[in-house]
Amino acid sequence: MIDSFYRNIDYLRISITDRCNLRCLYCMPAEGVVRMTHTEILRYEEIAAIVRAAADVGISKIRLTGGEPLVRPGVADLVSMLKAVDGITDISMTTNAILLEESAARLADSGLDRVNISLDSLDVEKFRTITRAGDIEKVFSGIEEAEASGLGPVKINTVVIRGFNDDEIIDLADWAFSNSLHLRFIEFMPVNDSSFPFIEKHISSDEIRNLLFQYYPELESCSIIGGGPAISWRRKLDTGSVGVIEAVSHSFCEHCNRIRLTADGMLKPCLFSNDEINLLPALRDDVVINYDELFKKIEETIRCKPASHVDFKRVNSDSRCMNEIGG
Ligand code: SAM
Ligand code: SF4
Repeated sequence: MIDSFYRNIDYLRISITDRCNLRCLYCMPAEGVVRMTHTEILRYEEIAAIVRAAADVGISKIRLTGGEPLVRPGVADLVSMLKAVDGITDISMTTNAILLEESAARLADSGLDRVNISLDSLDVEKFRTITRAGDIEKVFSGIEEAEASGLGPVKINTVVIRGFNDDEIIDLADWAFSNSLHLRFIEFMPVNDSSFPFIEKHISSDEIRNLLFQYYPELESCSIIGGGPAISWRRKLDTGSVGVIEAVSHSFCEHCNRIRLTADGMLKPCLFSNDEINLLPALRDDVVINYDELFKKIEETIRCKPASHVDFKRVNSDSRCMNEIGG
């Protein structure tokens, strides 16, 4: 395994498509999205080749994301292909769950270990507003089916937006406790300058944490399987938990163990940087995939991972939108 500033980089997040069946206000513009073409998007065989090379570099954990990973046909086949790669021990997915009810059992059979489900409100209308289209009932049935299929512990990702869902923090926490779910409040990140004004809408994890402890002074720290950078707490007799992911107000760069692959074959050493390493020449320039070249480029990505990012609060106008990076 190669380390980067004493961090073990063992986690690869793969955006398998830039397409999405929702249009969350903070993630994608409503219109005018320039889609990647079918030829630009990596084929499953190419993703599997990258994962084989990555496993040799020391990657053992994979997360499939997007866009919405479940809109891409045959995603369960991709899970099986990746599960068969030597050295890969954990495969998870981040999804909006709109299509999860019908696919959870098949994904679990194919080897998917867990899902994270994004849900920013418990209110039907607010959910429709933030996603510009979504039916919250589908998310609830997706959560149920994920649990029934063994894709747990199910984690819920909630981006907290001032003036939109900050009044629901305690309701969401109660819901997580009473449904044995692991809900993490994520700080809104200034990725790209979508129509959403970052400074006005951002709420720090300290504010969220203070509110949680005001309502639940009995909270105690806990750790959750696949919890990543989240700081989590539970109540003594509950199986669910709440947590915060404080990517903006308290950088966790010194613990960052991940690199990211975009759907069009670019490796990103850091979410907040525009640096990308192009894997396409290793995949497409010759008749066969150049495995040695892939290996070298993955190593190079890890080596050029910055020790930390300078200014998390600055909006990065040149960045790709989050649906292309995968969150
Ligand atoms: N479509 C899937 C979903 O929504 O779960 C996967 C892709 S989405 C880009 C991955 C995660 O990124 C979601 O949990 C989403 O809420 C989060 N996200 C998107 N834009 C964000 C932003 N500006 N700040 C913080 N989180 C963001
Ligand atoms: Fe789609 Fe996920 Fe972005 Fe929402 S957060 S628009 S569901 S990719």
